[in-house]
Amino acid sequence: MYRVLVGVLAAIFSSAANAEVVHVHTGTLLAIPGTEPANEQTVIVEDGAILAVVDGYRTQGADRVIDLKDRFVMPGLMDMHVHLQSELGPQRFAQALQFTDADFAFQGAYYARKTLMAGFTTVRNVGARRRDGMYALRDAVERGWVDGPRIVAAGGVAVTGGHADTSGVSAQLLDFYADRSRTVCDGPFDCRRATRQAIKYGADLIKITSTGGVMSDTNTGTEQQMTDEELREVVQTAHSLGRKVAAHAHGANGINAALRAGVDSIEHGTYTNDESVRLFVETGAYLVPTLVAGEAVVDIATNNDFLSPEVREKALRVGRVMKENLGRAIRGGVKIAFGTDNGVSPHGRNAREAELMFEAGMAPADILVSATISAADLIDRDDLGTLESGHRADLIATTTSPLEDIRALYDVVFVMKDGVVYKETR
Ligand SMILES: [Zn+2]
Repeated sequence: MYRVLVGVLAAIFSSAANAEVVHVHTGTLLAIPGTEPANEQTVIVEDGAILAVVDGYRTQGADRVIDLKDRFVMPGLMDMHVHLQSELGPQRFAQALQFTDADFAFQGAYYARKTLMAGFTTVRNVGARRRDGMYALRDAVERGWVDGPRIVAAGGVAVTGGHADTSGVSAQLLDFYADRSRTVCDGPFDCRRATRQAIKYGADLIKITSTGGVMSDTNTGTEQQMTDEELREVVQTAHSLGRKVAAHAHGANGINAALRAGVDSIEHGTYTNDESVRLFVETGAYLVPTLVAGEAVVDIATNNDFLSPEVREKALRVGRVMKENLGRAIRGGVKIAFGTDNGVSPHGRNAREAELMFEAGMAPADILVSATISAADLIDRDDLGTLESGHRADLIATTTSPLEDIRALYDVVFVMKDGVVYKETR
């Protein structure tokens, strides 16, 4: 008995003391997006983190070597706006009736894996069909139970009848869902309570809907829905509890009111005007453009008939102007963080956002910065976004350089997260 125990302990200590050292040999390495890439580098990984990045192909001291000598290697990509639990399609109303919380949780795990395989090692989930299931998925990924990107999960705070309150179902179901949520609020004091409620149950950040939205089944437009007082109260409460605030906003008044209230990011920012650009620059808030969602809703409104007339009108109107407004923001010097709104757009095609950002006038190098360094800054993670000593070992590879053609991101052939290889195609 004693001998067995000693043997087990010895095994535990030796594995802790001798964590595997992996050397990744890279053909072209973009260790820090926004700088020039370097050729023939070795990234040394131990225990989920980067020990060092050195010149040449080093093998000495390696327990294992990964050969990416014919690949372009860069930090894992980060998507700041996804909804992992669902995907827009004709099935959405049936799922609302048929799916249990567990079904939505498993569907979230399915789309999480797809997202990781597309090269996205970190995501911000900003709105879930079932809040508890999303927090559980975040924690399951962290524990290594489920293959997925690192998830920063938002709790939503919405006003009665506003975007993100339940819509499009019978009055009885509206009452049922309203009872469950307790994060729908009216007036500053109630919104303070709702914000605290969301954080109490596990929110990493607060997602608010300061204006109407395309997919809410009401004809209440896309302008400001939360009052200035409600916005200020949510932001103050969230910040005092160490949480950031992401504000969904289409109409200019709602964008500007949210920026004045001190939100950390504007999601969509469709009708960004000159005053918005001024406020973005003044406050340092990020814009998360979600161009691919604009394209997806126009496509669905044109080619399908499951949207209500109210939703279809908003989809066609909002979807068509998103791209030109990103152009205005870029020219005005607004900080951009990459985000798709996948869930509205299909999961796993995150690279389409990069292609649309390029068409809107962003240089490939800046797009890569938005999906790495800027995203890491938005979620306050100084150990993500670049490949440097001490950072998490999140790295991906493509066959060609996305700096030359951003569409290279469609073909991610290698994914490592926290030092674990999830994808390797030769
Ligand atoms: Zn969204």
